[in-house]
Amino acid sequence: MKVITSIAELQHALGSFDKEQIALVPTMGCLHEGHVSLMRKAKRLADIVVVSIYVNPLQFGENEDLDTYPRPFDDDVLLCQDEGVDFIFHPENLYPHGAPQVTLHVDDLSQHLCGSSRQGHFDGMLTVVNILFNIVRPHLAVFGEKDFQQLSIIQRMVADLHMPIEIIGADIVREHDGLAKSSRNRYLNDVERTQAKEIVAALHIMQDAAEQGCDIQGILSAGKAHVTQQKINLDYLEVCDEHSLQPITALSDKVTARIFIAAFIGTTRLIDNKPLFAKKTEETSCV
Ligand code: AMP
Repeated sequence: MKVITSIAELQHALGSFDKEQIALVPTMGCLHEGHVSLMRKAKRLADIVVVSIYVNPLQFGENEDLDTYPRPFDDDVLLCQDEGVDFIFHPENLYPHGAPQVTLHVDDLSQHLCGSSRQGHFDGMLTVVNILFNIVRPHLAVFGEKDFQQLSIIQRMVADLHMPIEIIGADIVREHDGLAKSSRNRYLNDVERTQAKEIVAALHIMQDAAEQGCDIQGILSAGKAHVTQQKINLDYLEVCDEHSLQPITALSDKVTARIFIAAFIGTTRLIDNKPLFAKKTEETSCV
């Protein structure tokens, strides 16, 4: 495995592979089993795996954790080595000319959910993913469903801009108690870590409510009651059509519903999501 920091050097190294399939796994480092699942998927689908590690300033808001974001680079290198990654691309700065004058902008898909509470986040994310695609020129790229809105937006970018890259989604990897793995879980103290598992508990409570025949309002109320009871500070909790990412008002066979949540545990903002399946039997009713 090679660790490369220069764009020219990476392009030179990748230039020698003209028949091989190249997969890119973009990350911000502080790698965990969620990232590992992406690397393994990439390895199954391609010959050469490039993992990029870059904390992209463009996707952080003013009061967010750009400066404190964990950067345990030596551990990340060991983990990638164990996973048989071919190249780590670890550039110091992807904006050598200063803030880019030309960026990408997402429309409706970024208006809800994380887009409304993190202004400019998805434009910054798309811009860096586009830069990485241009540098690496991968045949495929793997992203986690943990950041479902990000995955949807990237799929839409590739479709709208006719980019010759296959976008592969990967399931959410969770801790033993269900909490979605995240680099930001490191910020949690013991009390917060215990509280954090109630985020996924709320999603299960909402699924139970759906199976009892509750309508969307009932399902949302059940989830919100749980987070309130657990003293969790909610950013958003919505049930959306997983294709349009717009909130839905009723469950039906025509839309694929998904629950999206973002919440603050202390000062740490965590996100999660889960498909929402409608009631399976007629025997129970919403209480
Ligand atoms: P990040 O380093 O947080 O920017 O994430 C890099 C990639 O890893 C993104 O595609 C994330 O969706 C994915 N990822 C992060 N956490 C998980 C997880 N728990 N399960 C699956 N994929 C994840």
